[in-house]
Amino acid sequence: MPDHPTDPDCIFCKIIAGQIPSFKIYEDEAVFAFLDIGPLTHGHALVIPKAHHATVMTIPPETLAAAAARVPTLAKALLAATGAPACHVLINNGEEALQSVHHLHIHIIPRSSDDGFTIPWKTTPLDKQSAPALVQQIRARL
Ligand code: AMP
Ligand code: ZN
Repeated sequence: MPDHPTDPDCIFCKIIAGQIPSFKIYEDEAVFAFLDIGPLTHGHALVIPKAHHATVMTIPPETLAAAAARVPTLAKALLAATGAPACHVLINNGEEALQSVHHLHIHIIPRSSDDGFTIPWKTTPLDKQSAPALVQQIRARL
C-alpha cells in the first residue's frame, strides 16, 4: 500500500497504479507525468503528484511543491521534443474553473504561433476604488 492518500475511483490514481494505461513520460517516488489523452496542442502533458488531493486549496504545500519542482525539466523536454518555443503551465481548481478530474494535475501545454489554439484571455481594468479593501480582505486571511 502506498503511504500517501489514494482514491480507488480516481482515474489518475489508477494510471499511477498501472491499472489503466497511459503514455508515461516520467515517474519518480512522488510524481508521475504522462501525455494528455485529449491534447489541446501537440505534446500536451500532465504532471501529477502520486498523492491524491483535489486542488491547490486542499493539497499540502510540500506535495504541490514536489510536483511543481519537476515542471522546468519536463517543460524543457516537451518543448525540445515538439519544437514549440513556448508553453502554458496551469492548474484548474474546481469545476467552475474547468477541472474535470479531481486529482490535482499540472497541465503543460506547448505553444507555437501557428498551433491554432486560443484561450480567450480578455482582461478588464482593475477597479482601483475597491482594490485596497480586497487586498485587506485577502491579507486578513493569510
Ligand atoms: P482538467 O479539465 O483540468 O481536469 O483536465 C483533465 C485532463 O485530463 C483533460 O485534459 C483530459 O484530456 C485528461 N485526461 C482524462 N483522462 C485521461 C487519461 N485516461 N489519460 C490521459 N489524460 C486524461
Ligand atoms: Zn487520484
